[in-house]
Amino acid sequence: MGGRTCPHCGRALGTVTRSIGGRPYEVEESCTCDGALADVERRRAAEADAARVRAASGAVRRSGMPERFWSVPRDGDGLAALAARGFGLYLYGPVGTGKTYTACGVAKAWVWDHTTTYDGREYVAPPFRYRSVPRLLQEMRECYDGHGDQAELAGALMRCRLLVLDDMGQESPTEWALERLWEIVDQRWSNRRPTVVTSQCSPAQLVQRLASRGSLRTAESIVSRLCGAESEVRRIDGPDRRAQSDV
Ligand SMILES: [Zn+2]
Repeated sequence: MGGRTCPHCGRALGTVTRSIGGRPYEVEESCTCDGALADVERRRAAEADAARVRAASGAVRRSGMPERFWSVPRDGDGLAALAARGFGLYLYGPVGTGKTYTACGVAKAWVWDHTTTYDGREYVAPPFRYRSVPRLLQEMRECYDGHGDQAELAGALMRCRLLVLDDMGQESPTEWALERLWEIVDQRWSNRRPTVVTSQCSPAQLVQRLASRGSLRTAESIVSRLCGAESEVRRIDGPDRRAQSDV
């Protein structure tokens, strides 16, 4: 041993005896000068930060978000828009303008913002779900055919704190599926749980799309919940990310 000194104040550090479980142990002495205590504080903060990253990224991975979007940067601007209006964000525009990318960035920022700790160590992320709407409609069809639990599927999407519905309006739901969609959207709206939607359709086009096999009134109600006064509606004409990365 020998020769250990505090890098901050230069004090020679020996060992001290600690009682652990009733038995004495020799442990290395740690300095209590300001520099050494600041070191401990910094290490604690870095550990807490890493714990928050683990909790938030775990929630993103379990959400159903496709893996290629896990690493998109957190979109603080989109999050601010979501937070300012209350509980909805409707992003629409042509194919390939990065709507999904934007939605995932907003969701990641939201999850990060709501990942909190009570004791400075254990971070808990809020339940968050991502669903591509064509896939959701497929899951609903399976439930309708008796191959799944519709109540469980809808319950998870109603209860989660944040829901991303990607590519809404790409296909027209059946009357039954439209009703199930309405229940999810309305429950979330009633409980002030934010929903982020991407679509190729403007709100008016979405009504037509949703109503083509079901009730116009239900379609209008869904769109008024998703795109109403408490939601931020944004047209996205950004660069074509798909085209850029493919060329
Ligand atoms: Zn010291």
